[in-house]
Amino acid sequence: MIVLRGATTIENDSKEEISAAVKELLDGIFSANTLQKEEVRCFVFSLTTDIHSYHPAKAARESGYDFAPLFACIEPEIDGALKRCIRLMLFAEFSTDRAVKHIYQKGAKVLRKDISEVFNIALDGPAGSGKSTVAKILAKDYNILYLDTGAMYRACALKALRENISPKDGAAVEKMLDKMDLKVEYKDGTQHTVLDGEDVSLAIRENAVSMAASDISAHKAVRLKMVEMQREIAEQMSCVLDGRDIGSTVLPNAKFKFFVTADSKIRAERRYKELLARGQQVEFEALHEEIVRRDKQDSEREFSPLKQAEDAVVVDTSKMNIEEAVAAIKALIQAKI
Ligand code: C5P
Repeated sequence: MIVLRGATTIENDSKEEISAAVKELLDGIFSANTLQKEEVRCFVFSLTTDIHSYHPAKAARESGYDFAPLFACIEPEIDGALKRCIRLMLFAEFSTDRAVKHIYQKGAKVLRKDISEVFNIALDGPAGSGKSTVAKILAKDYNILYLDTGAMYRACALKALRENISPKDGAAVEKMLDKMDLKVEYKDGTQHTVLDGEDVSLAIRENAVSMAASDISAHKAVRLKMVEMQREIAEQMSCVLDGRDIGSTVLPNAKFKFFVTADSKIRAERRYKELLARGQQVEFEALHEEIVRRDKQDSEREFSPLKQAEDAVVVDTSKMNIEEAVAAIKALIQAKI
């Protein structure tokens, strides 16, 4: 007996989408394996508990896959599991000299990274556009890694500040890089930035580090080093990267590219609330000015400036809350997957 595996995801829990997704999955598995009706022994589906509107086995039967027993069951509820997912186990008998091809479609491509392609989502945009919150949610929902590239530039800035090196002094910064041991580690799916053996994930969020990060990130030597690290991570596994130059420079071939932006006052308000919640006291007007200055500096620098890649889709979150921004981006991803 040969077992073929497959899975897919749906965006909305509707009968139409379930029927279409099940048909596409079965069509895909049949065509990839040049499977004949007589070779199939049975179809077993499982579905996550957030799917209610239609039965995948019924959808399969209605699409003409009614020549072998069909069965569907609910999966246990697991924290962090891929949402709205339909899995298939197809039992068949055919000659073993035919290669077995498992099929993972839509959001389920991330389930079997060993047999599905690595894909990256590039989210660029100015500070406070909401891109990092969106990136974290996307990474969780698609079960892929989140790489906060700003944290890496912040760590360089923190090291310079601690060693009394001006982040604007290119020569001194370049020397500092040789002695810097920067690592990006993951614990329970959360990124930790480790500088010279110390976890600095919290320290790099201090407001004083933000402008220094913008200063230091303008140096070519810094960018070359950080971009190399980012590419290495993104080549090995599917991830969502947020930053300023991901779609334009770091991963020009990323499958999904978005430029997330918002009005500067709204971005400053978001940052203000975020810093207050962390107990950091800041003046709103000063913060707004700093954000505008940082955008200008990030956009005008010579190497890898903050830039919308030509093929990136602009998502303006000025009038959106986070849920709406995530839904908009997911719909665009789903349409292209
Ligand atoms: O995104 P975040 O505010 O943490 O980034 C801090 C600074 O690091 C930015 O203002 C920008 O100058 C720099 N940066 C960059 N390229 C990236 C990510 C961040 O130049 N890919």
